[in-house]
Amino acid sequence: MKRDIKSLSYEELNNETDALGLPKFKTKQIFEWLHKFGVGSFDEMTNISKDLRAKLADLFFISSCEIEQKYVSKLDGTVKYLFRLYDGEYVESVIMKYKYGYTICVSSQVGCKMGCTFCASTLAGFKRNLEAGEIESQLHSAQKDLNIRISNIVLMGIGEPLDNYENVIKFFYNVNNENGLNISMRSITVSTCGIVPRIYQFMEENLPVTLTISLHAPNDAIRSRTMPVNNKWGVDELLAACREYIKKTNRRVSFEYTLINNVNDTYECAKELSVKLKGMLCHVNLIPVNNVAERGNVKSSEENMHKFIHVLKKYGINATIRRTLGSDINASCGQLRRNRNEVR
Ligand code: SAH
Repeated sequence: MKRDIKSLSYEELNNETDALGLPKFKTKQIFEWLHKFGVGSFDEMTNISKDLRAKLADLFFISSCEIEQKYVSKLDGTVKYLFRLYDGEYVESVIMKYKYGYTICVSSQVGCKMGCTFCASTLAGFKRNLEAGEIESQLHSAQKDLNIRISNIVLMGIGEPLDNYENVIKFFYNVNNENGLNISMRSITVSTCGIVPRIYQFMEENLPVTLTISLHAPNDAIRSRTMPVNNKWGVDELLAACREYIKKTNRRVSFEYTLINNVNDTYECAKELSVKLKGMLCHVNLIPVNNVAERGNVKSSEENMHKFIHVLKKYGINATIRRTLGSDINASCGQLRRNRNEVR
């Protein structure tokens, strides 16, 4: 079977060109075509000979994300894509415009195994991991379609990035490569539901990527109700891993906390969370839950959200309420893929 050439790291590509007896600068040229320009075929590599293009096409294919559907928010210009992969599977990405540039929210897997009860990504089932090249293709397709340059990446689309560890790390190195998109690792955020051994592994990589933890509850009783992963690694174990991460990397950790009415938005929850996070180098992002039809969760009231953040701030904890973008296009991930699978 042919392999995806876009999913090779620079070193792996170099080994392949070595094996073909090519000079070093060919690696750079091919890498540029694939990663800087995001070409979809070997024929577009105009400074590569026809013979070599044919040879490469015999050995490899180039993964891509074809636009199946596109939605543009009338409220704030947020764009959401449903992308079709080479095997007919679908993933989603969202492009958001901020003052400092464009941010893409990418998917890391086709579906998700984690089973969080408020999330749409699990509903259509887990199919497979995305290869590094497929994660990156989401950027190429969006950049070409919108004629923009993306400056920030968040891995908060479909899937659990740390459950697709090797491919995600390779994706970081490839988008960061100066012969590719050249996006700083500091402009990348990876979000995890809390796979503790992977957090320890990730701190050893020592990458300046921002780590975000989907916490959503201050204790095991509440967290285990909505996040099955918590049965394996509880809140205290997760926070211990975060403290170690901060110690080791000197980097701030972010926590996502989705506020669900009367589930995790009470005064007691705010207080318990504050006590547990006090003194930690962290930031808490409060997010009003986005209701997914089947999930039946209700957003906290404005009043409860403000009360909640007030408690955190009293304890000296950095916290913000996240602005909602693209609310008219179901921009929270997982929803398009699920609808698509229903009509198939
Ligand atoms: N698997 C990773 C990344 C994907 S989810 C993780 O769990 O972190 C990205 C973020 O969106 C997570 O914090 C997730 O908990 C949150 N999320 C999922 N469904 C949501 C919903 N319906 N409303 C608000 N946030 C949601």
